[in-house]
Amino acid sequence: TDWAAAVAAVRGLPATARVLLICHVNPDGDALGSMLGFGLGLRRLGVRQLQATFPGPPEVPEPFRWLPGSDLLVPQDDAYPDPDLVICFDAASESRLGDLVDRLDKAGTALVLDHHASNTGFGGIHLVDPHAAATSVVALGLLDRLGVTLDAEIAACLYVALSTDTGSFRFEATTPAVHELAARLLATGISPGEISRRIFDTRPFGAVRLFGEVVGRARLEPAAAAGHGLVWTYATREDLARHHQPAYVLEALIDSVRCTAEADVSCVVKQSGDAEWAVSLRSKGAVDVSRVAMALGGGGHRFAAGFTGWGTVDEVVERIRTELPGALLPT
Ligand code: 5GP
Ligand code: MN
Ligand code: MN
Repeated sequence: TDWAAAVAAVRGLPATARVLLICHVNPDGDALGSMLGFGLGLRRLGVRQLQATFPGPPEVPEPFRWLPGSDLLVPQDDAYPDPDLVICFDAASESRLGDLVDRLDKAGTALVLDHHASNTGFGGIHLVDPHAAATSVVALGLLDRLGVTLDAEIAACLYVALSTDTGSFRFEATTPAVHELAARLLATGISPGEISRRIFDTRPFGAVRLFGEVVGRARLEPAAAAGHGLVWTYATREDLARHHQPAYVLEALIDSVRCTAEADVSCVVKQSGDAEWAVSLRSKGAVDVSRVAMALGGGGHRFAAGFTGWGTVDEVVERIRTELPGALLPT
């Protein structure tokens, strides 16, 4: 992590500089929260020509539409002049940036804020801390060094990021420092109850019924990796259409599956194209699922990872089964 270079890159911006903020495809709470929270901080510093975007369809998932700083978001537009500075949030590799890689490559400076151990080291200046619970921890570290005063709007964004990536402060990454950071954010007056309800506990009735169906077809395989069970299910675009639901509602599905007591590893295979699947993997500790994901072209963390799979559901799950034994952690 090169804090000095990152601070210099932002402080050295001329008043007319164009700054573009980007984050990974299918943005989650950490991607959007760290990007918009940091964007609000840059605005407070007087950065005028400031935009934020992400690859793929420009729709922000409904649970995140209320986020302060959402007015910074613009659809991806290649006609816009090359930015002086691109800042990239929560993306472990360029493959997570779709067509926006081009904007990153052509920018005067590319600053990367991330916390994935699998980060490939793309971009020019790296603030990558694999021990950080969320990219927002890195973002706040830089805002502090830039002298930005935390306010309730910035805090709401960073709190969304921190609480989504720590699973509401339940995962291993929830260190004393995470709670100290959360305390700083809450001290600005934001409402954790209201924020949690909006981002975790609100979904359309159609999604509730869809979850019932998809969870109902889950499979438990007791001995997938040396006695550590695997539970998995899948959802197709047809499932979504039948229940009139957008794809993002499936992001929460893994949480309804990973509670399975008999399984160490859980998996949700979500159709993203004709023969293309976005795969979510979670582990309770016996298996390093980032190894499975990386072996199959994706990435992530020890206990939460993902990749894009091609073929049929059965082919994709079979590849996971094959990789599991090699991803067992020493006991
Ligand atoms: P999720 O299952 O919530 O989509 O992702 C879990 C973790 O795996 C996140 O940290 C995310 O960054 C990572 N991840 C998910 N899908 C992919 C992928 O296709 N490629 C890479 N490199 N990482 C992924
Ligand atoms: Mn993310
Ligand atoms: Mn993250």
